[in-house]
Amino acid sequence: MKYSSCFAKTFKTPPSDSDSANAKFLVQAGFVDQTMAGVYTWLPFGLAVLRKVEQIVREEMNALGALEIMMPSLQPKEFWEATNRWDTVDILFKLHSQTDKEYALGASHEEIVTPLALKFLKSYKDLPFATYQINTKFRDELRAKSGVLRGREFRMKDMYSFHTSQEDLSAFYQKTLEAYVRAYNRCGLNVKVVEASGGIFTKNPSHEFQALTPAGEDVILACGKCEFGQNSEVATLKEGDACPKCGGVLSTVKGIEVGNIFDLGTKYSDAFDLNFVDENGDRKRVLMGCYGIGTSRLVGSIVEANHDDRGMIWPKSVAPFQVHLITLNSKDETVRENIMGTADDLVRDLEAQGIEVLWDDREDVAPGAKFADADLIGAPLRILISEKSLKEESVEWKERISAEGRLVKFVDVVEEIGEFVKV
Ligand code: ATP
Ligand code: MG
Repeated sequence: MKYSSCFAKTFKTPPSDSDSANAKFLVQAGFVDQTMAGVYTWLPFGLAVLRKVEQIVREEMNALGALEIMMPSLQPKEFWEATNRWDTVDILFKLHSQTDKEYALGASHEEIVTPLALKFLKSYKDLPFATYQINTKFRDELRAKSGVLRGREFRMKDMYSFHTSQEDLSAFYQKTLEAYVRAYNRCGLNVKVVEASGGIFTKNPSHEFQALTPAGEDVILACGKCEFGQNSEVATLKEGDACPKCGGVLSTVKGIEVGNIFDLGTKYSDAFDLNFVDENGDRKRVLMGCYGIGTSRLVGSIVEANHDDRGMIWPKSVAPFQVHLITLNSKDETVRENIMGTADDLVRDLEAQGIEVLWDDREDVAPGAKFADADLIGAPLRILISEKSLKEESVEWKERISAEGRLVKFVDVVEEIGEFVKV
């Protein structure tokens, strides 16, 4: 893509009211635009990142055997009354129609998926199954803050599983927990798996996935040696204690909750009378699990964990594009044509290999401003073609994470980039 043709460009200065790195850089770099507090437009580069994150999550859910669906955001009041959540969930947006009907705006989808399962599920032969969606959620958060970390309209992957027995549910729950860790790692994030609501010894276990960064609003008691963590809100342990898993030392750190999984037991199948007939012809309650990943919050968390004072540093797996190509203008017409022609060929060769390139082809922008934009936008690799590099039949190669650049010959550059982008 030529940068000159992208309408959503960078701003010279960050928004004055940004309260976090992701709010600052995503807006300044033209990845998102804030419509109002907690509500964002995802611009071309931001949407590219969001799509990659969601594709990684999708692949991990598919690998569990879950089937993707899409459920409505406009939801009937009766379903929320059936679960006793219409009057008790404070963040639920409620709408009034012109015919005096009331609706909920989807904050979560247990109220849709459980009656849906009721229509298809008859016997033990229909179980187990899991289904998920990646969709927009609406929540009347008292305080929208920290950029895309806490929005009033945001993206979530939510999966729901249905089982005949606790053993089956527990096994699927554990498989999902492992798939979550894989998904975060593939997005370039390290997470702690934190026992929530009393931990594994309660009847209905729940786990949170916490990306450790100082920008987090959750306080976690985490082991310095193994993956053990406990949310300090429910912690039975304290700082300095020995880790119950490995004996390491526990310390207090801050985390962003990027996912949450729940063993729901029969909470929702009770509400909707969701049963199955077992091998002996007896009717039994279906057991359920639900599993959420905040995909837009995940994008913000990746920025919180991967930036410096100049801008974002995207992990290769989720970068909007791998290569940020810069051409510098020359006063000499022949040299200028040579630079642009070389860049054109390089872009064609890279794109033929499926490598995504942003080409900053602008002719009226100073080199310093182009370099600053490349650092702000944060693609993993910057390639520069200038009069100077042309004389060496080379490009200048600089990775976002390193301070120094080096020259790479034209004849080698496509192959070297091909190696570099392999995740
Ligand atoms: P939190 O504790 O942060 O308020 P939650 O426990 O209410 O979140 P869930 O209902 O479990 O969240 O939703 C699943 C995931 O969706 C969360 O782990 C989080 O990553 C994401 N999420 C929840 N609320 C928001 C929000 N307001 N903005 C962006 N992402 C959110
Ligand atoms: Mg939570």
